[in-house]
Amino acid sequence: MNPHPSRCRWPPRSAYLHIPFCHRRCFYCDFPVVPLGDHADGEHSRSIAAYLELLQAEINGAPAGPPLSTVYVGGGTPSMLSPGQLRQLLQALRRRYGLAPGAEVTLEMDPASFDAERLAGHLAAGVNRVSMGGQSFDDAVLERLGRRHRRADLLQAAGWLEAARRRGELASWSLDLLQGLPGQTLEHWQAQLRQAIALGPPHLSVYDLIVEPGTVFERLEARGQLDLPEPDLAADLMELTARQLAAAGYGHYEISNYAQPGHASRHNRVYWSGAGWWGFGMGATAAPWGSRQARPRTREAYGAWLRQGGAAAAEGCGPGEPMPFDERLMVGLRRREGVSLWALAGEAGLTPADLEPLLRRWQPAIERGWLLREGPRWRLSDPEGLALSNGVLRELLAWWDQRSDQRSVQRPGVGERPAPPPSP
Ligand code: SF4
Repeated sequence: MNPHPSRCRWPPRSAYLHIPFCHRRCFYCDFPVVPLGDHADGEHSRSIAAYLELLQAEINGAPAGPPLSTVYVGGGTPSMLSPGQLRQLLQALRRRYGLAPGAEVTLEMDPASFDAERLAGHLAAGVNRVSMGGQSFDDAVLERLGRRHRRADLLQAAGWLEAARRRGELASWSLDLLQGLPGQTLEHWQAQLRQAIALGPPHLSVYDLIVEPGTVFERLEARGQLDLPEPDLAADLMELTARQLAAAGYGHYEISNYAQPGHASRHNRVYWSGAGWWGFGMGATAAPWGSRQARPRTREAYGAWLRQGGAAAAEGCGPGEPMPFDERLMVGLRRREGVSLWALAGEAGLTPADLEPLLRRWQPAIERGWLLREGPRWRLSDPEGLALSNGVLRELLAWWDQRSDQRSVQRPGVGERPAPPPSP
């Protein structure tokens, strides 16, 4: 008998596919990627083909579910796939689940990894939304980030995307930018935002640079060679982003995401709503029934994991823990509409007394107006609270860790912190 029947009533309607290939690894990136070099050759093609076989095998053997409403093909640089390869992957999903009418199908694309003809092929294969990693319009910055594309590539690619949208071939597209870069000033960032707005992307994702372990940037930081903005400037950059994009008609629907009306990413909302999703591919995170499960981060380990049965055993309906309270609260606070704290606590079996230490930690943010209580909902104010969200979320994690430590003394074996949210 299934021990968790209620969970099985709401199987995922979203899927994430991870394509790990990139030409080279950017200096700040710790994603599970396989750098193939700048020039396509036979080895390059064989690597991609072999991986796609594994990925299709994983999809074919996955637990059944209803038709998908959103699909996100991320990476890596998925635009390195040919339209034919992408078509095959989407067909595998169609065979396993089907696609619901109007399903949002997003492909991550990198400037300089596609041209107008390849874009047309990808759209014909079934893609209707593109997320493009632009990061900066400044060639010197792109060089320092270790990016392969340059400003001219970005402008040209954005032109192709916007033209496809105007012709009705593409429903929406998004541009990713990085803020908080070494040496960045308010003036420089303001100019970057102006250029982004001028291109007319219906959606913008603006991520704070994070120095991850094992990256080139980490080594530079350790040597004192990474001139990152001080916390006050970093917060000013975030506030500037929110104000400038609001003035240009973009709604701030999540900490890092802005959209013109009707262009918020439906797939992203799944991550932040607590609903489940399937995940396929090396390093992909899946959360079909609650807590997140990350796949092995190398091709070899991923292949071995598939040969041992893959997700079928671990992710069939029933096993697995629900998403932990701290994670649900954190993803809820990332959204503009916030979260119903008491309802969430009740579902997790927490009493108001349990939450008192957390509210004490949050008191300074509440007094400054960064964290607002509106009826049952708690949310970060816009732009100050969202810009300074790290402090609020850090207090949340510290409270949860402390609570878990205390509980683990009484009950050894409390589980590990789950994998972080999937990176876009
Ligand atoms: S940042 Fe993007 S393009 Fe650069 S290595 Fe990472 S996944 Fe590849």
